[in-house]
Amino acid sequence: MTDTAAHATPPAPEYDPGAGYISSLPGEDALPGFPRRLCLLGGTGSIGKSALRVVEEHPERFAVAALAGAANLALLAEQAARFRPARLCVLDASGADALAGMLPAGYSPDIVHGPEGYASLASDADSDVVLSAIVGAAGLVPTLAAVRAGKIVALANKESLVLAGDLIRQACRESGAVILPVDSEHNALFQALGGPGLRELPHVATLVLTASGGPFRDKPAAFLQTVTREQALDHPNWSMGPKISVDSSTLMNKGLEVIEACRLFGLPPGRVEVVVHPQSIVHSLARYHDGSLLAHLGPPDMRLAIAYCLGYPRRTPLDLPPVDLVALGALTFEAPRHDDFPCLSLARHSLSLGAWGPVALNAANETAVELFLTGQVAFLDIPRLVEFALNAQAGVYADDLDAILEIDRTTRKRVRERAIGCAPRG
Ligand code: NAD
Ligand code: MG
Repeated sequence: MTDTAAHATPPAPEYDPGAGYISSLPGEDALPGFPRRLCLLGGTGSIGKSALRVVEEHPERFAVAALAGAANLALLAEQAARFRPARLCVLDASGADALAGMLPAGYSPDIVHGPEGYASLASDADSDVVLSAIVGAAGLVPTLAAVRAGKIVALANKESLVLAGDLIRQACRESGAVILPVDSEHNALFQALGGPGLRELPHVATLVLTASGGPFRDKPAAFLQTVTREQALDHPNWSMGPKISVDSSTLMNKGLEVIEACRLFGLPPGRVEVVVHPQSIVHSLARYHDGSLLAHLGPPDMRLAIAYCLGYPRRTPLDLPPVDLVALGALTFEAPRHDDFPCLSLARHSLSLGAWGPVALNAANETAVELFLTGQVAFLDIPRLVEFALNAQAGVYADDLDAILEIDRTTRKRVRERAIGCAPRG
């Protein structure tokens, strides 16, 4: 059994073909040629570093036109010296000054900073493709800027779609921007369905997102009361940034991905299943009404999804070890443990509350994860604080950017105040 009643009668024809972002993709002729000029937002993070490895392997296909980081100035300076983008962005003015002093002689890029700086890089006419790989809600405004500028947006920052699905879709329609999913499950579905398959989405019964189950998949419930930061960060299959690693261990990552899938593919939540697949080789599947399942398999390395988006529709060869099916021997699947990992159900619940629900869910989760990583709350306080935020929030209008950012702010404040009552970790 998976987590929805997927095998029951086919759902009512409630699909709106215009409701997904990637139901109408331009042909290759309408897409930029090669080499493509990239803007990498979140260049110093886990996704950003993987993207730069792809660029390094294929200088004939990709060049870095702009690069943005945040606090890790030393790494940003090193990357900039190597790839020589014309524009850089950091968090604040003092960071920009410090960065300028760390660059090699004879290389003087334009260095900007702050939210306006990220948005300016994202919409710059000198880039063809924007990789949105900032972590968390901070990625929303730059993603929106890229979409409004009509870019091809390779989207890793799933939080943007969770916060502002409707707003981004509307902006895509107006500007002609194209969103290509970097998140491995959504990228897998995008690949498995292909162009014609996307037009056939109404004939898909459900999308099946696979989840590794995280580091605590087979741990008893009592163990979860004592989880440490280090244990939560130690993901069995994927090497990722700290926030998404914790999200994977609570299953909130899969909850955010259910919301992301609904918004990308224009399907209601009842048609997005989740199944735990500990080997992380099957990246997701589409289930058709005739019983067929179309899957995408590959090694658990984000370079695969990143390269597919950056080079779309052409595949980019990668130096990845082939999946050894014989050595693997078996691929296994099991149901998520909803009672022990309530974040997945909380994410589905948030969708039923209206547009504000996922905004409050995400803000509460980001705040709770940060408090957990800094030792101020326990692992099991994360779902408790998210549930508290969903119960505390009155249903409010969340259809424009200001309203979304206000709910985000209010929820973070509320969760921080509530967390004072949680037992600190020893
Ligand atoms: P990370 O923590 O490794 O990197 C985050 C990047 O964002 C860094 O470059 C950091 O400097 C930048 N950043 C942080 N706060 C910022 C701010 N306030 N303003 C501007 N930049 C800021 O995170 P990651 O694992 O690379 O994940 C990035 C995004 O991609 C997340 O939304 C995550 O959910 C998504 N994603 C990641 C993976 C993965 O394998 N890492 C897989 C799928 C989706
Ligand atoms: Mg994913």
